[in-house]
Amino acid sequence: MKVAVIGTGYVGLVTGVVLAHLGNDVICVDKDPKKVAKLRQGIPPIYEPGIEEILKKTIEEGFFHVTDSIEEAVKASEVVFIAVGTPPGADGTPDLTAVRAVAAGIGRSITKPTVIVNKSTVPVGSGELVESLIVAAGADPSMVNVVSNPEFLREGSAIHDTLNPDRIVIGAKNKDAAQKLVELYSTLNAPTLITDLESAELIKYASNSFLALKISFINAMSRICELAGGNVEDVAKGMGLDKRIGNQFLQAGLGWGGSCFPKDVLGTITVAESLGYDFALLKEVIDINTDQTLNFVRRLSAKIGGFEGKQIGIMGLAFKPNTDDIRDAKSLIIIDEILKAGGTVVAHDPIAAELVAEHFPQVDYKDSVYEVSHGADALVLVTEWNEYRHLDLQRLAAPMKSAILFDGRRCYKKEVAEAAGFEYFTIGSR
Ligand code: NAD
Repeated sequence: MKVAVIGTGYVGLVTGVVLAHLGNDVICVDKDPKKVAKLRQGIPPIYEPGIEEILKKTIEEGFFHVTDSIEEAVKASEVVFIAVGTPPGADGTPDLTAVRAVAAGIGRSITKPTVIVNKSTVPVGSGELVESLIVAAGADPSMVNVVSNPEFLREGSAIHDTLNPDRIVIGAKNKDAAQKLVELYSTLNAPTLITDLESAELIKYASNSFLALKISFINAMSRICELAGGNVEDVAKGMGLDKRIGNQFLQAGLGWGGSCFPKDVLGTITVAESLGYDFALLKEVIDINTDQTLNFVRRLSAKIGGFEGKQIGIMGLAFKPNTDDIRDAKSLIIIDEILKAGGTVVAHDPIAAELVAEHFPQVDYKDSVYEVSHGADALVLVTEWNEYRHLDLQRLAAPMKSAILFDGRRCYKKEVAEAAGFEYFTIGSR
């Protein structure tokens, strides 16, 4: 099938290369000339395991192309994906500026019946909005078929998730348009739910809000464990063995961040508000999440007698392992709190240090994680990169001014850290 994908970020590029890998003729579009230039050379502008190989392969095989022209891509394609960003606006409502611009561009370019697929996460009612914008830009309404196909991939395992989705959700007004997507995805072995546009749009917000709620719930339990003396890992295990609850998304930690949960939970609240519903439950989910990180910083500060004049080593900066994405990363909040209180920070991340340096040039970024502990008053593990799980903890502890380790992801066993010489603190147990 001839497919266009507009936006080559985490979602658009992964969608584009996977559809090309499945044998479709894909043309990706981005307005950022640097991204287009990199892609032309087979260099992915984002970090995502496995993407470089599949990009190079599909370019060589002639299935993957890239352009900066929406018109060129739309004219060449029967299915057009919109995969641009929808960041939160000033009031928390998703900002649809990019979606609107792309819809207008599609509207100016359509010359034949085309299925337009909204893959960006957009508020309920956006399918209708996109259709009206395409028509307002000059497209013949009989040629315009807008479909909602929300994306559920996880950064860090995006290629795998796209090839092996838990489900495919297709929302459409027109059965033939939905069928076109069923055909496009026919080689993927996944349950497919065909529904109306509004339900498909709501499924995405409902799913992310529910997952954030689950994490906030176990994080609230972690606070009880810290006060009462229980162990949140065992509490989560005991809960998760109940099939109605399940064991996923019950890992207590510093809270949820990243490019999706914060904006989608906020988006659900603000969209509900605009419709006349006060989603108070989700407001509490956000408050628990915010305080979870700050409480950890307060504990650290109390332990070392305040940050003034102290040097803190930070292990991990990306919002989660296996990505370079730092949008709403917990590291940014923690570093900010330490610096504001008069401390200094030495940090390491296998991939994301350069991006964090744009926010905090005053931080000392090291190439090796072992360097962050030299002379430090405390170490904080923020992102549980796999390589951090197998460190020589004795080597990490030895050059510290005071060997204090605050593990924000329950990455280490207390006995092991203590045997290596650390005074060890984590989330959800004493
Ligand atoms: P991103 O910011 O990484 O990428 C967006 C891309 O769109 C950028 O490369 C940008 O240059 C390009 N773009 C913006 N305006 C354009 C225009 N007018 N013409 C052409 N290109 C344009 O965003 P992302 O993380 O890939 O997210 C895209 C959408 O998918 C969002 O709505 C997001 O909520 C949703 N989503 C993201 C994830 C994720 O894990 N990142 C998962 C599921 C859903």
